[in-house]
Amino acid sequence: MILTVIGSCANQISNREGVSLLIESGHDNLLIDCGPGIVAAFGRCCRKTSEINNVLLTHVHADHMAGFPYFVWNRNFECMGNTPPEDLHVYGENETLRLAKYMIEHCYPELAFPFKVIYHEIKAGDSFNSGILNIETICANHAVPCISAVIKGEDRKLVYTSDTLYNEQLVDKAQNADVLVHEGMMPKSMDALANKVKHSTAFSAGKFANDAKVKQLLMVHIAPSLLGQENVLIDEASLNYQGAISIPYDGSVYRI
Ligand SMILES: [Zn+2]
Ligand SMILES: [Zn+2]
Repeated sequence: MILTVIGSCANQISNREGVSLLIESGHDNLLIDCGPGIVAAFGRCCRKTSEINNVLLTHVHADHMAGFPYFVWNRNFECMGNTPPEDLHVYGENETLRLAKYMIEHCYPELAFPFKVIYHEIKAGDSFNSGILNIETICANHAVPCISAVIKGEDRKLVYTSDTLYNEQLVDKAQNADVLVHEGMMPKSMDALANKVKHSTAFSAGKFANDAKVKQLLMVHIAPSLLGQENVLIDEASLNYQGAISIPYDGSVYRI
């Protein structure tokens, strides 16, 4: 299983985009989230959006799905005059898909894409497959309905929390994961704000990693104001977790 961190930040800044993860096993793939800079982020990773045929949208916040219609359009644009890309399967909860459909219908009403966009409404707790990748969804604890995902394939397990406070139900599902991608947006000194907006501190990401006994912790969704102070976030996470901790750059690739 290969993980490419397409975007790693809580916001767009000059060299980072909102969190977006690409998980692949051979031809099978899953893109998680489509923030506003998704097309540029794919370009910087030297990847093509037309290679992707499964997308999971975790929630309606703009940093996670504002780029969705442009992503779909770009799949079309990349292949103009050539063989069109495969159909695109889009997974998400009711409100998230409603917004995704609305954006496509209103952004490109004149276009009939040379591939189908197939929407699959899921509820937290549902599972689906992309080839040999199995994706189990779990309800996150965020300000709006939001889902976390446990992805299994090739005897490996990757867990992505999306935006959430510490989530005991997900800890159970994440036991012994090979990689945990957990948001670590803020330092512990911002605990009150984190609780109010339902985001995780690096300290709680470390607690989650320890409680779930994961093999490796990647912290993402870093607040732009904290970039340059990654050592502070990693130190706080390491108060709870003794395993490997890193904060990836956009474009980082991991073999899991
Ligand atoms: Zn959010
Ligand atoms: Zn977010």
